Amino acid sequence: MITLTGGLSVSELASRLAVADTEIIRALFMKGIMTSVNQILDVPTATMVAEEMGVVVETGVTEAEAKKVIEMISAGDLDHLQRRPPVVTIMGHVDHGKTTLLDSIRKTKVAQGEAGGITQHIGAYHVDVTHNGKPEQVVFLDTPGHEAFTAMRARGARVTDIAVLVVAADDGVRPQTIEAISHAKAAQVPIVIAINKVDKEGAQPDRVKQELTEYGLVAEEWGGDTIMVPVSALTGDNLDTLLDMILLVSEVEDLYANPDRPAKGTVIEANLDKARGPVATLLIQNGTLRVGDTLVAGSSFGKVRAMIDDRGARIDIAGPSFAVEVLGLSDVPAAGDEFDVYLDEKEARAIAGNRADEQRLSRLQQSMASRRVSLNTLSVQAQEGDLKELNLLIKSDVQGSLEAIVSSLQQLPQKEVQVRVLLAAPGEITETDVDLAAASNAVIIGFNTTFASGARYAADHAGVDVRDYSIIYKLLEDVQGAMEGLLEPEMVEEPLGQLEVRAVFAVGKGAVAGCYVQSGKAVRNCKVRIRRKSELLYTGTLDSLKRMKEDAKEVNAGYECGIGLDDFKNWQDGDIIETYRLITKRRTLSV
Ligand code: GDP
Repeated sequence: MITLTGGLSVSELASRLAVADTEIIRALFMKGIMTSVNQILDVPTATMVAEEMGVVVETGVTEAEAKKVIEMISAGDLDHLQRRPPVVTIMGHVDHGKTTLLDSIRKTKVAQGEAGGITQHIGAYHVDVTHNGKPEQVVFLDTPGHEAFTAMRARGARVTDIAVLVVAADDGVRPQTIEAISHAKAAQVPIVIAINKVDKEGAQPDRVKQELTEYGLVAEEWGGDTIMVPVSALTGDNLDTLLDMILLVSEVEDLYANPDRPAKGTVIEANLDKARGPVATLLIQNGTLRVGDTLVAGSSFGKVRAMIDDRGARIDIAGPSFAVEVLGLSDVPAAGDEFDVYLDEKEARAIAGNRADEQRLSRLQQSMASRRVSLNTLSVQAQEGDLKELNLLIKSDVQGSLEAIVSSLQQLPQKEVQVRVLLAAPGEITETDVDLAAASNAVIIGFNTTFASGARYAADHAGVDVRDYSIIYKLLEDVQGAMEGLLEPEMVEEPLGQLEVRAVFAVGKGAVAGCYVQSGKAVRNCKVRIRRKSELLYTGTLDSLKRMKEDAKEVNAGYECGIGLDDFKNWQDGDIIETYRLITKRRTLSV
């Protein structure tokens, strides 16, 4: 194995690989690349050559950098800090009411008739609350679920101050509840529990509290320190208390920012709007953002042309913890990208340019790295003849959900079946996508997106499977199901029963065992295993089964029967016969 951290010359690569210079030149020539001994090869090209020679290459992808947590407050802010509203993410199991809760809080707290109406979805919204007699705000991120939360975190973005975990009182703690707890704990974000659907008949809020104790969340009224609020997202019952509790929790968190400085924060959503160009929702985490500010978001650059708040109103300034839709960027940044306002336009432009170069390089390195992984595992598995792959093309409405989907897909067990994402891009499903899917035997996954004209016909015509989703959990479930469908079914034993031999009768040259069915049943042509004490004497098929001298198909527990086997005659009283059958079972993926 060799490690490449940057470009190197043909002769350097040759010496690292312990081959002659000419071998490298020839290998590149075969690929249509003309080189000389001193020519510098970039990392992807050098990797390709090395791998072709059977050497594994490690590229210096800086994982630490990707995971870097953005520090939003710096020393210069310390004298100007002011409290800021908490930013809340709603998590919980599917169907426990996350979306209903978000909608309901929004409806009850945002007065009808405010500018632009209340239907503007920009990825976050705020509500005004009176807490301890004072006006305060709470900001909610509009993409519920821990997948989106974790995808942001994986990119180094830390946007959530408090997690509200919704648990349905009629359903209790479920797999995604547990996942959400571990994701929030991993991020060290405090959790407030909303015990939802208390209006339902089967609601058992105490059971939910009980179940949560197993995960270290003990309700305050039970002597613990987790706030649990019974609510009904549907009727709006007790939502005020929930908001009050969120503010109570936020009081003990260090939620400060300096409004007197240029803004910085995180991109929470971004997409390309046909009419308006790149549109990004920015969550301001420090400072104040103004129309006319020059900013860099990820590798895109721009001057804020207009800002629209979550209520659809055009605004000129926005302070800490607020989310605004911003027009005027050169490109669509990615959800999770940091953004910064720069006073010097030239500097901003240069920084954006550098980041774009770095991103291109790291994309190249990553694609080489992932190819390396799949090529390596591919070749090993191909030799063993059991390689299975599920190729996917993913299109979604916004970049944020794409990242959430791809990172969740990567977490599916892939030891036996690998998921290969050939393309993951925001936008409609196009004919080109269908072509790619047809060419590579891939399934197209659409998440909250539609078909471009002609694409549906093309997909039907080419027999390409296109699936629509609006819930990540359902999408993952189906992909896992599809992966499991690719596995060979396995034969498993299904036990039928147990018999004891009570008498042995000689019949012609053979013998019939008179048995008592102790449990389960005996079935003609089922499998049998004969044991004497701890010794296994015989395994085979039950050839003849008689009840009162008549042929029987099946004899149940509590009855006597006669059993004859073609290949086994050496019966003794007390022998135990286990009956079972072999069934094919669909396999599930294991980690
Ligand atoms: P999500 O998957 O967690 O976003 O769940 P949804 O918000 O889509 O809710 C799932 C279902 O539960 C919907 O049919 C809702 O109407 C229903 N639901 C949500 N909250 C409540 C509640 O407080 N009471 C009752 N009775 N039903 C609710």
